Amino acid sequence: MSISTSERVGVARLLSTPTPDLAEHRAHFGPLPCLDVPQLVDLLKCAGLVGRGGAGFPTWRKLADVAAAGARHPVVVANGAEGEPLSDKDAVLLHRSPHLVLDGLALVASALGAREVHVYVGAAAVQSVRAALAERGDRRTQLTEAPDAFVAGEESAVVNRLQGGPALPLDRTLRVTRSGVRGRPTLVQNVETLAHLALLARYGPDWFRAAGRPDEAGTRLLTLSGDLARRGVLEVESGAGLGALLARRGVDLRDVRAVLVGGYHGAWVPGAELAHTELSVASLRRFGAAPGAGVVHVLGTRRCGLAASAEIASWLGQQSARQCGPCVNGLPALADVLTRLARRERTPGLVREVHRLSEVVTGRGSCRHPDGTARFVRSALAVFDNDVAAHLQGACEVAA
Ligand code: SF4
Repeated sequence: MSISTSERVGVARLLSTPTPDLAEHRAHFGPLPCLDVPQLVDLLKCAGLVGRGGAGFPTWRKLADVAAAGARHPVVVANGAEGEPLSDKDAVLLHRSPHLVLDGLALVASALGAREVHVYVGAAAVQSVRAALAERGDRRTQLTEAPDAFVAGEESAVVNRLQGGPALPLDRTLRVTRSGVRGRPTLVQNVETLAHLALLARYGPDWFRAAGRPDEAGTRLLTLSGDLARRGVLEVESGAGLGALLARRGVDLRDVRAVLVGGYHGAWVPGAELAHTELSVASLRRFGAAPGAGVVHVLGTRRCGLAASAEIASWLGQQSARQCGPCVNGLPALADVLTRLARRERTPGLVREVHRLSEVVTGRGSCRHPDGTARFVRSALAVFDNDVAAHLQGACEVAA
């Protein structure tokens, strides 16, 4: 994806002053302050920064948890593995502003007294990170390429990979903040979150809160894809109006059937609701969606929502790490029933079977892959309910 713009007005944020050059970066942003853990925790609490990797977890909590584990030298990881096929924002950020990410990583590593520091990124970002580390004369930070797999960025999969295993989720009872890489407390933080932290440490929480909503502060990176001309990565305020955002990118909302928000583990928002929906947890909750890792995927009115959803569900079914039975067998079965529905098979029990299988797989995996897939499939049935009724009659609005 090639287009990268910032839509922030007035305040310099992640993509508004991009430079991969260290001297320019330092000249522009100034020195990085040195903060201890209590100062960082206070700063993060005041700012209300939540993780930008997908789960939206308060950033201060993970940091405080690792510090509370009491190990002398915890492990710190910048996670830029974008297994999500619709997301490019971490790769774009690492390409344009790698030093902001490395600043954030240096801040937390120094505060925690970490001696083992990792950057874990997809193939697209390896070169820019390697160049940035060389420019900083940083020989301590270890760079690891993440495989191109949906679950490769899951926290315990990251830990598994960094300690020499495959990038597959581990069946865990302990959080990685308590027992991660080789049993040491490990802070795994998304690269965008670290970049925000690097700015926040310099400019303070009031500056951060000048953008966004009182309950969801700051900006976030989005990857726009699907049926629109101006695809790409952009920076928007948290809580930005979805309809207005798409209209500014030249989208006629009347041509939108639905928008997938949050990625393949996200949920559909109907086109008719876009004008009244914000990119915020509060506004998206009624659709079972969340901003997640900032994916916004547009489905035009000329495309069948059930067919598009079945395609995604089939792909997700193949992404199982083949460790947990309900995931290995249940997700392909779920995708298969949705595909039969999408193909207009006239079997009345298909919808019931989708719901049954969704319940069977939910909460039954070592990671959240089955839960996220079931949520996505349920969202498809709810948002495309008219299509479901038509398909069961052998008809389809798009094919008619
Ligand atoms: S739930 Fe699925 S993806 Fe997650 S660990 Fe188990 S088999 Fe792997």
